[in-house]
Amino acid sequence: MDYISVAVDGPAGAGKSSVSKAAAKDMGFTYIDTGAMYRAAALFAIENGIDIKNNRKNLVSRLDEIKIDIKYEDDGQHVFLCGTDVSEHIRREDVSVGASDVATIPEVREKLVQLQRNMAKSANVIMDGRDICEHVLPDAQVKIFLTASVESRAKRRYDELKDKGLSCDIEKIKSDMLYRDKNDSTREVSPLRQANDAVLLDTTELSFYEAVEKVKELIRNVL
Ligand code: C5P
Repeated sequence: MDYISVAVDGPAGAGKSSVSKAAAKDMGFTYIDTGAMYRAAALFAIENGIDIKNNRKNLVSRLDEIKIDIKYEDDGQHVFLCGTDVSEHIRREDVSVGASDVATIPEVREKLVQLQRNMAKSANVIMDGRDICEHVLPDAQVKIFLTASVESRAKRRYDELKDKGLSCDIEKIKSDMLYRDKNDSTREVSPLRQANDAVLLDTTELSFYEAVEKVKELIRNVL
């Protein structure tokens, strides 16, 4: 059986995950958050005292020890690192920045891309990340580049953290986002950019509902 793949790329905080997750739920698709896998690899490095920026070789030599499993429970995707559910830990700000550094290492990318491609072989999926349209699923039937202005992305992340009762500084969130945008779009392997055949979806002026509806409409067009 041929499955439908929907590829969604875009910068940090544009709403890719929440929009993709909601569209997937409504359409009966499996949502795959690939950023969570890079975050898990970064958490491994942090927990093992590996300096990602200055000692890449150390991380690469321990690649086989980084066991990442994705499981689906009633509340969505859970990420396990070496058997431990790290779904909450990987949302920390230090892990966000670490993930962007880990994602510049080709060997890490190869390992995770393999895992992502295998997951798309057995279900209708909406997969989001940075390199999905051009590299992970180049044959996806729907390709979307979902973005928003950096101000609105930082504000959304700020509101999200505040809602969770976490203390945060909007200027720090914005500067971390700019750091990640630059890292992600200038790296040598699979840099973040809009694929030629991807539909641009700028959510700066859209409500969450409007963005989800737009994604669903693009999916319905290929069903
Ligand atoms: O999507 P999220 O912000 O959780 O991703 C964390 C980091 O992982 C990104 O900043 C990016 O550097 C990296 N990433 C990537 N390729 C993907 C998904 C995420 O390089 N497909």
